[in-house]
Amino acid sequence: MVETQITGRGIKQKEVVDAMLKVPRHLFTEETFISQAYNDYPLPIGGDQTISQPYIVALMTEALKLDGTEKVLEIGTGSGYQSAVLSLMAHKVYSVERLSTLADRARKILDSLLCSNVVIRVADGTLGWAVNGPYDAIIVTAGSPEVPEAYMQQLKVGGRLVIPVGGEQAQELIRVTRLEGAFKKESLGGCRFVKLVGKYGWRAKETGSATY
Ligand code: SAH
Repeated sequence: MVETQITGRGIKQKEVVDAMLKVPRHLFTEETFISQAYNDYPLPIGGDQTISQPYIVALMTEALKLDGTEKVLEIGTGSGYQSAVLSLMAHKVYSVERLSTLADRARKILDSLLCSNVVIRVADGTLGWAVNGPYDAIIVTAGSPEVPEAYMQQLKVGGRLVIPVGGEQAQELIRVTRLEGAFKKESLGGCRFVKLVGKYGWRAKETGSATY
């Protein structure tokens, strides 16, 4: 997986490559999909959600420019796979998930891998997680119609935010860097994520199963 999908497609940061080599992706997929865990696509993890494609995980992680000292906010814990990669690359990871079933499952897997620097909370992540901020880096692993204001506010000067922004079917991966008195925006290319559902994202369906 790492040779063909990660380094083969231009991911260069050694720490990202090492983390992708270390984290056992098959532990994060559903049992039915274990044999496909290292394939080049996202997989279902229950609750209509997915574990992201390996390349996208590596691309977003590299875009955060982490050196191991950072406090990172992740929105959309999902399976916990991206959190595990981040836990090897940052000092502390605060991760928010709206579905408690996924958060509980992710917690168990991360505990089994001794990822003790990841803290998970069940809440609407479109509000960020103000009490622990500001953050050196923020990563949003669900697609949003626009960038929720809270993320800009909870980013340190010099900090990086990586988020998919756009429509329900396709988005653009954006990196926002907070400068003194300004925000710099860069496009990292097209992508397709499940929806960021919450107060400042997409609206939950009437039948939605959020548990916060
Ligand atoms: N990073 C995950 C992929 C998650 S898929 C992984 O590696 O497996 C996107 C996740 O975002 C889903 O679990 C979904 O429930 C969650 N999500 C959607 N809207 C959210 C919100 N407002 N706050 C927190 N989590 C949210």
